[in-house]
Amino acid sequence: MFVDDVLDVVIVGSGPAGLTAAIYAARANLRPLVIEGQISSTSDQPGGQLMLTTEVENFPGFIDGIQGPELMANFRAQAARFGARFLTEKATRVDFSSRPFGVWVGDEEFRARSVIVATGAQSRMLGLERERELIGHGVSTCATCDGFFFGDQEIAVVGGGDSALEEATFLTKFASKVSVVHRRDQLRASKIMQERAFKNDKIEFVWDSVVSELEGDKRLEGLRLQNVKTGAYTSVPVSGLFIAIGHVPNTGLFRGQLDMDENGYLITRDGAKTNVEGVFACGDVQDHVYRQAVTAAGSGCMAAIDAERWLEAQGDGDHA
Ligand code: NAP
Repeated sequence: MFVDDVLDVVIVGSGPAGLTAAIYAARANLRPLVIEGQISSTSDQPGGQLMLTTEVENFPGFIDGIQGPELMANFRAQAARFGARFLTEKATRVDFSSRPFGVWVGDEEFRARSVIVATGAQSRMLGLERERELIGHGVSTCATCDGFFFGDQEIAVVGGGDSALEEATFLTKFASKVSVVHRRDQLRASKIMQERAFKNDKIEFVWDSVVSELEGDKRLEGLRLQNVKTGAYTSVPVSGLFIAIGHVPNTGLFRGQLDMDENGYLITRDGAKTNVEGVFACGDVQDHVYRQAVTAAGSGCMAAIDAERWLEAQGDGDHA
C-alpha cells in the first residue's frame, strides 16, 4: 500500500511510546506509518501492555482513572487525527545497514528515511492456565499500577529477584499480608532488598514453592502451591497475585543490527538515538527501570523530536 514511497518515518510498535511518537511525528508533517502489531492475547499486540490491564489510575490527566484499552484507543485516535497511518501487522524483518532503511511485513517492504523502534517488552509469565484471562481480575504484572486495589487484603508475589522484593515491599503499603513465593530457598535479589523485606512484618516467604494453579472463577481467590522439595500441595487464599519473574524486551527483530545490553534491551544515548544514525528507540524496549506508560510516552515524544531534527539536518525530509 505504501510500497513505492520512501517514508519519512516508520514507527514499529504502538504502545504509549510508539503512539506518542506517532502523534508528534504526524504533527510535524512526517506522515508516519505505524506498524502496530497483530491482535493477540499477549502484551505483544497493538496498544501493548496496557491492553492487558483494567483501570489505569496513574496516567496524568484522568482524575477518575481510565481503562487501559480505552486509553490506548484514545492515543491511537489522536495520532490518526493528525494523519498517522496504521498497519495492523507485525514487522517481520528490518535492514538498517543502508539508507533508506527497510522494514518488512512478510514480503512487503517499506522503505524509510528514519525508523522509531517502540516494540516494548513483555512480562515473563508463569504459563499457567487462565493466567492471562485473570490479568486485571486479581493477577497483575505491575505493583505500581495495581497495588492500590488491594487495600487490607492478603496477596502474593511470585519471584525472588529485585523486582519481586521491591514489589512485595511496595505492596505492604496497601495489603495486610504479602506472601513471596519463590521456587528456591535463596533469593536472587540484592542484599539490601532482602534485608528490607526480611525486616517487614507484613512479608512472609514461601520457599521452594511454585504456583501450580490459580483458584477462583471470575476473580482470583487463591493459589495452589507445590513445594518442589516435598511435592506437597497447599492452598493459600489470596485476592491478588503479582508476577515478578522478569521482563523480556521485544528485540529479536533487531539482533545484530542495534546495540543491546546483556538482557536484550536496546541501548539509547543522547535522547532516543541508537547506534544506527536515523534509527531511534523509545519506551520499554530500551527502559528496564521505570516501565511506566507515562515515561514510555515521554520517551516516544523524545524519539519523534529526535527523528524530526535528524531528518531536517539531513535535508531530505520532504514534509510538504
Ligand atoms: P531477575 O533478577 O531475573 O529475577 C527473576 C526471579 O524470578 C528470579 O528469582 C527467578 O528465580 C524467578 N523466576 C524466573 N522464572 C520463573 C518461573 N518460571 N517461575 C518461578 N520463578 C521464576 O528479574 P527482576 O527481578 O525483574 O530483575 C531484573 C533486573 O532488574 C535485575 O538486574 C535487577 O537487579 C534489576 N532490578 C533492580 C531494581 C532496583 O535496584 N531497584 C528493581 C528491580 C529490578 P531464580 O532465582 O530461581 O532464577
